[in-house]
Amino acid sequence: MTRGARDASGRSSSARASAAILGSQMLISAAELVVIVALIAFVPETLTNPTIFGGIGALFALVGVGALVPWDRVPRRWRVVLPLLNILAIGLVRAAEPQLGSGLLLVFPVIWLARAFTVTETIVGVNLAILVIWIDRVFIGGPLVVNDFASIVLLPIALGFIAMTVYLAARRTRAQTVLLRSHSKLVENALTRGRRQQFLLSEVLNTVAFGVVAFNQAKQIVFVNRTYRRWTEAFGDSSRGSVFDRVYQSDRVTLYPEAGRPFVRAMAGQEFDDLVIWVGEPGEQRRAAYSVSSRMIHDPGDQSMAGLIVLKDVTQELEAIRGRDDLVGSVTHELRSPLTSILGYLDLVSETDLPAETRAHVEVASGNAERLLVIVNDLLRAASDAEKDLSMSFIPGDVAQIAREAVAANLMYAKTHDVELDIDVPATAPATIDPVRIRQVLDNLITNAIKYNRALGHVLVRIERDRMIRVEVQDSGVGIPEADLARIFDRFYRTRSARDSPVTGTGLGLAITREIIQRHGGELTVESVLGLGSTFRISLPKDPTETAGEQTA
Ligand code: ADP
Repeated sequence: MTRGARDASGRSSSARASAAILGSQMLISAAELVVIVALIAFVPETLTNPTIFGGIGALFALVGVGALVPWDRVPRRWRVVLPLLNILAIGLVRAAEPQLGSGLLLVFPVIWLARAFTVTETIVGVNLAILVIWIDRVFIGGPLVVNDFASIVLLPIALGFIAMTVYLAARRTRAQTVLLRSHSKLVENALTRGRRQQFLLSEVLNTVAFGVVAFNQAKQIVFVNRTYRRWTEAFGDSSRGSVFDRVYQSDRVTLYPEAGRPFVRAMAGQEFDDLVIWVGEPGEQRRAAYSVSSRMIHDPGDQSMAGLIVLKDVTQELEAIRGRDDLVGSVTHELRSPLTSILGYLDLVSETDLPAETRAHVEVASGNAERLLVIVNDLLRAASDAEKDLSMSFIPGDVAQIAREAVAANLMYAKTHDVELDIDVPATAPATIDPVRIRQVLDNLITNAIKYNRALGHVLVRIERDRMIRVEVQDSGVGIPEADLARIFDRFYRTRSARDSPVTGTGLGLAITREIIQRHGGELTVESVLGLGSTFRISLPKDPTETAGEQTA
């Protein structure tokens, strides 16, 4: 740890060094106290010996040095002086009364050296201790006896062994401490990084104009962004916690059934795109529409989040569409009366005696006026509350049978376009459906597949049954540019090539088709390759009530 670094209790490393030095010194002096007590008990006369006095005095003086010297300011290599002086002081005590075995006290400074100093300093210390033992023996004098073996041979060996063991253990501990510190640093960095990323993410999510809601597997909301909170404050019900109180379907007046509420469906694990909800009470000025999408989060390691709900404010968009529809509705309404009158008069004129050329002209005018009336009627129907007018009545029906009838009815139309129309369906495909609407869907997809085809092209209508009923209308026609794929289901949208071609249309068929399929709880998708053809796919649940609430867009 660097100088000035702090431990868990807040002490700096220099304060810790001073405390460790004083601690070691106190330990040696405490052991010495035991020796003094033993001296008083067994050989009180030695207390008068000046050598032993000097030794004990020196050991206590060293306690004072240990306590008073500001060790944090003493260079590290000079700190070694204190344990070395302890060795000398113990040597003095031992020289005065070798029988007491105070030489064993040398173990303390040797451990101190091995634990806290370098290998060289430890070797110096051990050698000094051995020297002290041997000088003591010389100082005592007399011939060597068997008892001396323990003190002058075994004790130095034991000291060396202890020093080596403690030194190695201390080194290992130090290495482990360093490792531990670097690991904890890594963990700390990772945590900081994680926290920073979380902060950044929530800041980003708070800045976007989308409403974002995250929920966990226990179906509890764990995050809502600022935009969403603002919306729910305006329209929500705080008693239910961050959710809209009453949610209306895209017709703006029908409440979603509880099981069909987008939030309930998302939390039940369903993924969906662009479900429209209206909030605010019908008839009130302040209302808002949101397009809701949901995604599940599949991360087995993270149980905290199970899914996301994203909401987009589409109020203005839908109001603009309503404005457009109102305009189209009123204009077409105004057009219809004079057009009906023109047709009536043309009929009257054609009943009179006319020259052949004039009759031919009147018939062309009449034909064109009739086509115009068909288009005006289509536009009028589409504009007059298209979604509300789409009444449904579900009964048990057979999609395969309806497909066969639709193909049979369009065979002539295919022939006039030089297109081959084939069918490949099972004997039956029973489901609870609105048969009239499903026929409308098939008619629309089949006529599109024929009219946007090429000469000698072909169209295939297929049905497969599994959990769902899957209907496919495949053509070998002009195809749809990728950029247009997302828009062909919008009302009044026609691709550029369709607009430039002589093929007439209003751009309403696919919008109504998708609406019908969604009201059945199903899905309509398209896949297309420009120049090669398109495939429209419908997946219909056998029972639309199983996916309650799907009937919105
Ligand atoms: P309409 O056919 O009256 O124009 P639709 O809503 O049925 O309106 O179709 C919208 C547009 O999608 C069409 O104008 C056409 O550009 C494109 N489209 C639909 N079906 C096909 C198809 N099978 N092949 C190529 N383009 C298609």
